[in-house]
Formats: sequence, structure tokens, C-alpha cells
Amino acid sequence: MTRYSAWSVFLHGLMGQRGWDRAWRDPEPRPHYDVVIVGAGLHGLATAFYLAENHGIRNVAVLEKGWLGGGNAGRNTTIVRSNYMMDGNRFFYEHSLKLWENLSHTLNYNVMFSQRAHVTLLHSPPAMDAAARRYNTLLLTGSDGEIWQLDTLKREIPHLNYDNARFPIVGATVQRRAGTARHDAVAWGYARGADSRGVDIIQNCEVTGIRREGGRVTGVRTTRGDIGAGKIGLAVAGNTSRLWRMADLGRLPIETHKLQAFVSEPLKPLLDHVVVFGVGGAHFYISQSDKGGMVFGGDLDWYKSYAQRGNLPIVQDVSECATSILPCLGRVRLLRHWAGVMDMSMDGSPFICRTPLENLYLNAGWNYGGFKASPASGWFFADLIANGRPDPVIRNFDLQRFERGVNIDERGAGPDPKLHG
Ligand SMILES: Cc1cc2nc3c(=O)[nH]c(=O)nc-3n(C[C@H](O)[C@H](O)[C@H](O)COP(=O)(O)OP(=O)(O)OC[C@H]3O[C@@H](n4cnc5c(N)ncnc54)[C@H](O)[C@@H]3O)c2cc1C
Repeated sequence: MTRYSAWSVFLHGLMGQRGWDRAWRDPEPRPHYDVVIVGAGLHGLATAFYLAENHGIRNVAVLEKGWLGGGNAGRNTTIVRSNYMMDGNRFFYEHSLKLWENLSHTLNYNVMFSQRAHVTLLHSPPAMDAAARRYNTLLLTGSDGEIWQLDTLKREIPHLNYDNARFPIVGATVQRRAGTARHDAVAWGYARGADSRGVDIIQNCEVTGIRREGGRVTGVRTTRGDIGAGKIGLAVAGNTSRLWRMADLGRLPIETHKLQAFVSEPLKPLLDHVVVFGVGGAHFYISQSDKGGMVFGGDLDWYKSYAQRGNLPIVQDVSECATSILPCLGRVRLLRHWAGVMDMSMDGSPFICRTPLENLYLNAGWNYGGFKASPASGWFFADLIANGRPDPVIRNFDLQRFERGVNIDERGAGPDPKLHG
């Protein structure tokens, strides 16, 4: 496979751009693989890549019912950050951010990771105090974090609504190493990296059943025939409960909800930060893409569904948030909006774990936050599948944590998936 470099771009330019290799093959499924990963989203593809790269396991297939990256992978607002306070998330997301920082080099593929300050607006002095505790924890554990008082914020982002906001802005917490990336480039980069290491990525191949013998899995039924597997990893985001049912395992602590995203017409440079606004029931996050579009989103659609489309009340809700915090957006035209299906867990935290069936592994429950998690998720899921035991960093990402009363996330929003934004 051609290695991408400035030299290869120059050389292929001289040859009229002929001779580029395909980024990944389109293989026929083989009868058996050592590992089958279901779902060619970011988590499935990253897992296949790290299985080959870190553990030398290359007899791997990634099965995808549609096209790779067509699920949440290509639908999210691409925010990357690691500003979590409590142990369970702190080290996992920091590991992920470190992988992001070198991902384009690791994959030899430009994922357009654009580091820029992630700015969470604060609206009261007690909120500033609580945030200081969280951001001091970031500093004490080797990450970065800052508190901006109002004068700094006004200098950095002058066009926020400082004069007439319903919830007056008093300051912000900031993580400068956060950022955004081009989401489909991440999927393509991991796919190309996995394929070049021998992984078969099989698109248009829906898993319709899971074969088991007694307490262990032996393979999958698919729309392209049966495929045997030594181990199976599920990474199907909002479809997890469907696959779980195929394995006859009862119910999961996951609900599927819809989340919408929005992009405006392209504008001249307006915002070189990620801005988050969440107070008094409002929830809103925004950044500007390299093409100039304002990319933003808000809350879930508030009802369960597998449909990848959203409803109009959320359009109104998000537009209200947008104009209340950045009034200059009032005359901007919306170009597109769409939805993805989120695997919302009861405590807002993910699962990377073994299951009651031998050799069946689960990767799910990413809520709104799975994009930033995808490198670390693939890293630790591959490690779990390869070695059969969880790394200490993910020891609480299992299904038994509810019995142990473990709290992973500092938000403490309560046992309702709709609350975990
Ligand atoms: C609108 C929106 C905005 C978001 N914004 C952010 C953000 O800013 N930052 C952040 O960190 N996260 C964000 N997220 C969350 C993030 O996108 C997801 O958590 C993450 O992408 C989920 O993992 P994935 O990429 O593997 O999922 P997906 O890309 O959905 O991959 C799962 C794949 O499994 C396939 N599949 C399902 N069933 C089967 C089957 N039976 N057989 C074969 N294949 C199957 C699907 O077709 C799909 O391609 C957002 C999500 C949405 C929808």
C-alpha cells in the first residue's frame, strides 16, 4: 500500500494522480476468523487496528451492515476532550487524548485533528468554585486545564452574549489540548490501517444471529452467510440491545435515543474554540469546521427510537440556545441537520467488558461521548479481547458495576439515560 507523504502526493501529481492504491480492499468473507468485530464504526475499526498493531492478531474481520463510518462515526459533532475528574474516566480519556495527538502519524492518514480550547461557560460563582475543583484535578493528574475570568473570556471570544444573556456569563473552564477532528477521516484512517495489516473489512454484511454452543459463542449468522469466530466483539453503538437479544442474553442497562447535529452555511472565521453552554435546562455546544460551517448540537430527542432522524422541537431548542449565547448566529442559514442513535447507559458511562458468554465481548454505552473515546476504546477493547482480562484503567467498565455501586462519572445525573448528556 502506498505510504502517504508529501513526496507521494508530488509524485502522483506528476503522473496525473494515477496509480493510487485503494484505501482498503473489498474482500469476500472467509468461513472462519480468530476474531470477528461487529460494527465498522470508530470503535469497531479502532479495535481491529489495535488488535493487529498492538497484539499481532490479524486474522480478523469487521462486519458492517451498511457502509463503514455510516453510523454515529460520520454523524457526530467531533468534539474531543479529556476534562473528566474522577478516576474511572480521568485516565481513560487522557489516554485517548494522547492517542489523538499523534493519530495522524500513527495511521499515516490526516484525521485533521485540530487542537483548540474547549471552553465551558459558567454562570455563577458557585459554578466557578465547583469547576475549579475539577480543573485542579486535571492539573494534578498530568493534564491541562485553566479557569478564565470574564476579562480573559471577553478578550478570547468577544462575540458571546455578555450584555443581555438570560444566564449571565461569569467565566469559563478551558482545556486547550481539546479539539475537533474530521470524523469520517478517522474512520477511513483506521479502516486503511487495519486493512493494510490484514484485517478484512466486510461491508453490506448484516449480522442477523449469534451462534452459540452451550455457554460459548462460535460464530455469527449474516446476510452473506455464516462466519465462524474464535472470539466476537460487539461494537454496534445504538444497535447494541438488538445484538444482545440475538445472543439470548436478556436485557441490557442501555436505551437507544436519538441525538441530532446541525451545520450552518459556511462563514468566514468566527470561532476558533469549542464553546459549551449548559445551564437552566439549556444544553448547547458549537465549533466551526475547516469549511466554515458552524457545527452544533444540543440535547437528545427525549424519546427512544432506532430511527436515524430527528424531530423539530429539538431544532427550535437548539436554535434558541444558539441565539441566546451567540446572537450573531440569528441570521445564519441552517444547511443540514441529521440524527444518530445513541447507546445511552443508565449511569452515562460505557462498557468495555466480557459478557456472560465465553468469548463474547461488549463495547457499548458511549452516550454522547464516544467520538473522543474511540482511540482509547479500540486500544483497551483490543487488549481485552487479546488477553481475556480488562486493563486496570477499564476495570469498572463492566456490567456488574451497578451491583458494586461504582460511580464513574462526576456528574451524578441519576439512573436515567436521558439525563446523561
Ligand atoms: C449527533 C451526534 C453528535 C455527537 N457528538 C459527539 C461529540 O461531539 N463528541 C463525542 O465524543 N461523541 C459524540 N457523539 C457520540 C459518538 O459519535 C458515538 O458515541 C460513537 O460514534 C459511537 O461509536 P461508533 O463510532 O463505533 O458507532 P457507529 O458509527 O454507530 O458504529 C456502529 C456500526 O455498527 C453497525 N451495525 C449495527 N448493527 C449491525 C449489525 N446487526 N450487523 C453489522 N453491523 C451493524 C452500524 O451500521 C454502524 O456502522 C455524537 C453522536 C451523535 C449522533
